[in-house]
Amino acid sequence: MSDIYDLIIVGGGPGGIASAVEAYIFKIKKVLLIEKGDNHSQTIRKYYKDSKRVDKVWRKQEIELIGNVDFFDGTKESTLDHFDSLLEKGIIDTQYNSEVYSVIKKENIFKVTSSKGDFYAKNVIVSIGRMGKPNKPPYELPRSLKAIINHNAYDCGGEENILVVGGGDSAVEYACQLTTVNKITLSHRGIHIKDANDINLEMITRYEKEKRLTVLHNSTTIAIDDKDGKAQVSFADKTSIIYDRVIFAIGGTTPIGFMQSSSIDLDEKERPIFSEEFETSVEGLYLAGDIIYSKGGSIAMAINHAYTIITDIMSKN
Ligand SMILES: Cc1cc2nc3c(=O)[nH]c(=O)nc-3n(C[C@H](O)[C@H](O)[C@H](O)COP(=O)(O)OP(=O)(O)OC[C@H]3O[C@@H](n4cnc5c(N)ncnc54)[C@H](O)[C@@H]3O)c2cc1C
Repeated sequence: MSDIYDLIIVGGGPGGIASAVEAYIFKIKKVLLIEKGDNHSQTIRKYYKDSKRVDKVWRKQEIELIGNVDFFDGTKESTLDHFDSLLEKGIIDTQYNSEVYSVIKKENIFKVTSSKGDFYAKNVIVSIGRMGKPNKPPYELPRSLKAIINHNAYDCGGEENILVVGGGDSAVEYACQLTTVNKITLSHRGIHIKDANDINLEMITRYEKEKRLTVLHNSTTIAIDDKDGKAQVSFADKTSIIYDRVIFAIGGTTPIGFMQSSSIDLDEKERPIFSEEFETSVEGLYLAGDIIYSKGGSIAMAINHAYTIITDIMSKN
């Protein structure tokens, strides 16, 4: 316990990086950032397609930045470069390839248990997002089709007949981007796509009109079976179509197990309870970014949480 950090940040996505930068600006001395991947921003690296447009207004959430960390419209690559440059200054002690399992407070000090050992801190920010466990459909998926049922677009080859499931920005972006070399169908449950931002709505409407893809509105998948190594998808309207690949772009889940093992109080819907400053029921333990929203937040929101949390920590010291 000789080395007690002033602050440990768990998760090196936008929320974690912004927390690290704000901590540096506010002169919090001993800060450690722990990330389970081999680099920061694993959600962006794994789930954003190369060259993806990154919008500051995401899921129609218009956010004005309140802190010291800037963020602007760009691409996957420019966003990663931006976060690289924020961390590059070498200002933060960073530990990669280290997964945190729990954060337990005892005698006013947090013990952060990770795959690389235990670390101790006075305050902890957990910003581990929701994409560690992407949402799955309510029916069982055949194990034999594991390679062609995905949650991102990384494994798509080309000239494939692909079904993208989802009605939000990620689904629309995957669907449109993949049309260049694939035959794409987008299946979503609504009568109209309404969860996407204006740019994506315009794009999907145009692509549909130009017959660059097919959109199945009011469509629910109810089962997937293995048909000679391909995905035979059954829909609620009793139709069934065979695809080379299916991509579920239906968001991620709140890491409830992590929060329970860290003694964070949850409400009746298993959502974390937190203050306006994003402090949980455990004093000194904060949540930032997507982890606090049941439907996911945005990069700008995560960046703002960081500023609010760090100013709260400062006000208590
Ligand atoms: C396909 C897609 C497209 C998107 N496009 C946009 C967009 O254009 N604009 C926008 O504003 N938002 C977009 N978003 C949403 C945006 O990515 C999130 O709101 C944002 O990344 C949330 O940041 P975060 O720091 O909370 O979590 P994340 O970005 O998910 O980062 C969490 C980090 O924590 C690490 N981690 C997880 N568990 C542990 C653990 N136990 N121990 C240590 N580390 C851990 C992960 O490896 C990861 O690096 C998109 C999301 C998706 C999926």
